[in-house]
Amino acid sequence: MTTVTFDSLNPATGEIVGSHPKHGPDAVRQAVGRAEEAAGWWAALGAGERRRRLLDYKAVITQHLRELAELVHEENGKPVGDATLEIVLAITHLDWAARNAQKVLGRRRVNPGMIGLNLAATLEYLPLGVVGVIGPWNYPVFTPMGSIAYALAAGNAVVFKPSELTPGIGVRLAELFAEAVPEQPVLQTVTGLGETGAALAADPRVRKVAFTGSTATAKRVMAACAENLTPIVAECGGKDAFIVDADADIGKAADACLWGAMSNAGQTCVGVERVYVVDAVYEPFMRELSDRVAKVKAGEDYGPITMPGQLDIIKRHIDDAAKAGKVVAGGTGSVRAPYVEPVIVEDVPEESPAVREETFGPTITVRRTRDAQEALELANASVYGLGGTVFSRNTRRAMELARMMRSGMTAINSVISFAGVPALPFGGMGDSGFGRIHGADGLREFARPKAISRQR
Ligand code: NAD
Repeated sequence: MTTVTFDSLNPATGEIVGSHPKHGPDAVRQAVGRAEEAAGWWAALGAGERRRRLLDYKAVITQHLRELAELVHEENGKPVGDATLEIVLAITHLDWAARNAQKVLGRRRVNPGMIGLNLAATLEYLPLGVVGVIGPWNYPVFTPMGSIAYALAAGNAVVFKPSELTPGIGVRLAELFAEAVPEQPVLQTVTGLGETGAALAADPRVRKVAFTGSTATAKRVMAACAENLTPIVAECGGKDAFIVDADADIGKAADACLWGAMSNAGQTCVGVERVYVVDAVYEPFMRELSDRVAKVKAGEDYGPITMPGQLDIIKRHIDDAAKAGKVVAGGTGSVRAPYVEPVIVEDVPEESPAVREETFGPTITVRRTRDAQEALELANASVYGLGGTVFSRNTRRAMELARMMRSGMTAINSVISFAGVPALPFGGMGDSGFGRIHGADGLREFARPKAISRQR
């Protein structure tokens, strides 16, 4: 039987990077069957041996860092330096998950909290079995590894479906795993378009699906999972707000805003897309930001837009924003496929698509607010709730604003650092999804609590 294949393309040049099988339902079923067997073996190895093997995997990835970064560069388009950074961050998570799984998930005695009954009780977190990981293309190593590493460390086998835009890197991650763990296919990759992911989500032997991608696809994945009551973690899109309060360090705020909005060409779920600056510091902040943005060049400081279809959305948002607001940088001519020059537009109405919808490009809207309270209200008026930023030198006030921000994560005086911090849970609310990856919560997400009480 001939295998149907699809090509991955270099988004900057259009050249074919690789050709991969379109795994249909049968191939996915077979992979899940193999994973079920491997899951039993992996769970029986015990936490200590799993830790050792995962650290071996980390060593193998580290040895292949350069090769992997080149492949990410080719498939996704981002500069090799940015690709290297994402792989280093992925390794950091792998290390943390491996070293902390036993502490977080292992058996412990619990005070049953019931007077009069002579009970002893223990709690431990056991593996689920097979975990399906469905990933996006924007951080094709870092993002799926945030689920894969934690699921493996919790004792599960993983079937990974990478994005159809970055299949080669997904295949390579499983090949390298087999160098550290050659005995059983504990981590496998299935390649293909949405149908391949749909087949994985629909398989009743998959005990949990970790999905990262758009909100629209998350709903389809949830619908498929509902058939078997398969639980999911949904890490979806965002429209992160960036609040600059009156006592902020303006220079540092402008640096962070630039990095948060433009890195990865804005193709970041926790990318800065909406900026709210209080009146007292509006002009100086805009001067600092404009000076910095003027030095940024698409194609040099960041790569192309990876997904060709996204260019239309970015262009529509820029055109709408430019019509309704005041262009500070870039503007209607900023889209030069496959690149987008940085765009800043002021005074865009809050109901405009550029403010409401995820743009996923190096573009921001900026609005002047009376005070931080008004900035917070506007920041919170979004269907999304992934990350966000508060810039203020007043730690107490910044903490208050951060806690009131409707988001899973808020950074004070920085951006997106929480994505790289292994010990902190990563995830959102509303249309940004639910469940958590990373940290102790991320480990527990891929395990089932097992409670045992014993009458003495
Ligand atoms: P996408 O939703 O188009 O695709 C994501 C994955 O789902 C791909 O592997 C795709 O093949 C698969 N898929 C498509 N249809 C499917 C179906 N019916 N059933 C199962 N799987 C299916 O998203 P994308 O364009 O690859 O990624 C960009 C989006 O991901 C953005 O919205 C971004 O904000 C979000 N994202 C979120 C996070 C986070 O952690 N919250 C991280 C990175 C990206």
